[in-house]
Amino acid sequence: MRTTVDKCVSAENRIEVVGWVDSKRDHGKLTFIDIKDHTGVLQVVGRNLLRDLNLGDVISVYGEVKKRPEKMVNPNLPTGDRELVAESYAIVNKSGPLPIPTEGDGYEVSEDMRLRYRYLDLRRERLQKNLRLRSNLFHELRGYLRQYGFIEIETPLLTKSTKEGARDFIVPSRTYPGCCYALPQSPQQYKQLLMAAGFEKYYQFARCVRDEDPRADRGFEFTQLDLEMAYVNHETDILWRVEQILRAAMSKARVPFSEPKDCNTKEWESCRFQVLTYGDALEKYGTDKPDIRTVGEKELGTLAFCWVVRFPMFKPAKDAVDKIDSKSDWTFMHNPFSAPIPNNVQWLLKGDNIAQITAMQFDLVCNGLELGSGSIRSHRSDLLAATFKIMGYSDDEIKESVGHMLEAFDLGAPPHGGMALGLDRLVMLACGEQNLKEVVAFPTSTTGRTSVMDAPCEIRKDQRKELGL
Ligand code: ASP
Repeated sequence: MRTTVDKCVSAENRIEVVGWVDSKRDHGKLTFIDIKDHTGVLQVVGRNLLRDLNLGDVISVYGEVKKRPEKMVNPNLPTGDRELVAESYAIVNKSGPLPIPTEGDGYEVSEDMRLRYRYLDLRRERLQKNLRLRSNLFHELRGYLRQYGFIEIETPLLTKSTKEGARDFIVPSRTYPGCCYALPQSPQQYKQLLMAAGFEKYYQFARCVRDEDPRADRGFEFTQLDLEMAYVNHETDILWRVEQILRAAMSKARVPFSEPKDCNTKEWESCRFQVLTYGDALEKYGTDKPDIRTVGEKELGTLAFCWVVRFPMFKPAKDAVDKIDSKSDWTFMHNPFSAPIPNNVQWLLKGDNIAQITAMQFDLVCNGLELGSGSIRSHRSDLLAATFKIMGYSDDEIKESVGHMLEAFDLGAPPHGGMALGLDRLVMLACGEQNLKEVVAFPTSTTGRTSVMDAPCEIRKDQRKELGL
């Protein structure tokens, strides 16, 4: 009977297993191999058999499962107390010499080789575990979002630039020569429009693309859990619900995190994660991405979450990246759609005390890394227009940039707010990894090249012509 490696439990049983030759040891008449499938590895013994096999060959082996002699038991392997004594085998697909090892953790292999042969790299147990944890977490998050009434809606990939403070990836149009689409930096405007459309609770596992210099904790592409809720007026309306979903999903997916203690002041008491204002975080930790773990929690690799709230709405536009979206000396701190706290509305409308305007904006921080951010939005057109005015936009430029949002807000948009949670970063922390590439199936390299397939690459002359390039 054909079975998987993990099911080879009962000894004295004749079975057939298919999989890769994962390791091989020759001892004269006896050849030992480990056969590997998606459930694990199993030792196979061949008497005058299996000798011609190479690492990476896909084989099918038939034989009898036997208990290993006492002193040969490997306690570190779930199948370590048994082995398959091969009686016959067939090579299903012969492999050439493997260019990278598929056992071990693979950290020592160069990035170049790991990404070029990513399908081999992914065979290693560490990456198999990481991607399975990712899948479990996504599955649990979806379940809880649905349970709490969120509905999943996809938004376009070919779209217009939305302002998230990074360069866009541009896609030239064939039908409108000289014109381009932008790939979404986030579904920000669409999700707000969905609130205007009457979907009170939206979510999406959104693929976003930003042309920023890649780092260990940031790539060109990323996946975020993007959500938005209507009829929310205070940040806590969002925060407590997100915490609830996140804590439940992480518990189910067996991600260790430190259960929050009740430690918040009255205004934030509905939140379980610790809430720090931007000012408090800077004063107490010297950063707006505080690591609130105890020494013990650090040693155990536990995740400790906190919220940082009430950021300044604007910051001085200093460098080239700040100037992508701003036409004055000021740019937004998070995105331009955040609302000011009620006390600061007049300052925003008049453009007074710009540095002091505080936004109803928040970040979720975990172990010193920003995991996500969100805000209560400006759902009135005068507030959104005032934000752009402070960033130096003329009336025409405002209309050209976000006229459609102003129009929607003037057609009965309910108050709303939401956030986006960086799922790659969350999974990276949950897996105890230091680099996002370890939790993404086909990441781009540090220099921005794709895994396995060689992009970016030149396009054909006729494509260029068709696109008017
Ligand atoms: N669009 C924001 C981002 O991607 C998140 C949000 O405010 O919902 O960072």
